[in-house]
Amino acid sequence: RLRVLSGIQPTADSFHLGNYLGALRQWVRLQDTHDTFYCVVDLHAITVEQDPKVLLERTRRSAAQLLAIGVDPARSALFVQSHVPEHAQLSWVLECQTGFGEAGRMTQFKDKAAKQGSDHASVGLFTYPVLMAADILLYQTNAVPVGEDQRQHLELTRNLAQRFNSRFGKTFVMPEPFIVKDTAKIYDLQEPTAKMSKSAATANGLVELLEDPKRSAKKIRSAVTDTGREVRFDREEKAGVSNLLTIYSALTDRTVADLETAYEGKGYGDLKKDLAEVLVDWVTPLQESVQSYLDDVAELDRILAAGARQAREVASATLASVYERIGFLPAS
Ligand code: ATP
Ligand code: MG
Repeated sequence: RLRVLSGIQPTADSFHLGNYLGALRQWVRLQDTHDTFYCVVDLHAITVEQDPKVLLERTRRSAAQLLAIGVDPARSALFVQSHVPEHAQLSWVLECQTGFGEAGRMTQFKDKAAKQGSDHASVGLFTYPVLMAADILLYQTNAVPVGEDQRQHLELTRNLAQRFNSRFGKTFVMPEPFIVKDTAKIYDLQEPTAKMSKSAATANGLVELLEDPKRSAKKIRSAVTDTGREVRFDREEKAGVSNLLTIYSALTDRTVADLETAYEGKGYGDLKKDLAEVLVDWVTPLQESVQSYLDDVAELDRILAAGARQAREVASATLASVYERIGFLPAS
């Protein structure tokens, strides 16, 4: 089985529909076909300022949501990044293989640093892509599910793997980008040409998995659509309707074509009302499941501890061979 690694930052109280349909749903499916390592990347989270209490709470909530959507600890190593110290340790070694200019060309850093101002952007934010390389290379990962925004970082990871392997001998598996089928890109409900995102969304454009389902239903019912009447998928002319169809299709596993047929002669109101119901029916039991994980924090922490042990078995072997190759004196 090919090995997959993916991570998500604990930087919101709830994941949103874009996170779920664009990424997390595939985490669940990949368990059937791949050897899967999934982590809540708290080390990445602190590249921007975090309130300690909030970070801790969000880390547990993130793990609880992953479990509730179907990440199965019997089939995946589910862990918190800081529980596996090898991430930070390998990151340091890789930072020493990374050119300053090379890191400086990462466009996500440039964008974020420009927003924060260079005195506020941390060195951690600068080295973030190298930590991501460490995350991937530690597990001898074959395939990394990546969105467009992470492509350049994966390219850096590949360059670092190649450089290390040729300088010190073959140590790392070369990871390949993995374009997952059936990932949906979800747009803001109020501004359906912009990506649904926790940082950029309009107040009513973002559907959070853990918000009151009534609120989500209302957001769906008041989603922006065009002035036409025909329920038809057309990203150019009908961005709002197309987005609703995408969400509807993803949540029900009905095809968009099937939905178009079903809504022939009906209006946008019917589509929204039905989708709101679909969403509520799906998210209500999901929320109950998340709550049950959060009600038993001891059990949740045990699951994460077991995941970390499993991850460390692989990570420590990789780090040991890295340390040996670069000439660190073995600790005896
Ligand atoms: P930020 O605005 O801070 O970048 P975000 O809402 O984009 O936050 P991320 O934490 O960056 O969320 O994304 C986590 C995962 O969810 C990534 O794999 C990302 O590609 C995916 N994702 C985020 N938003 C969407 C979306 N609207 N449609 C599809 N996938 C998405
Ligand atoms: Mg993002």
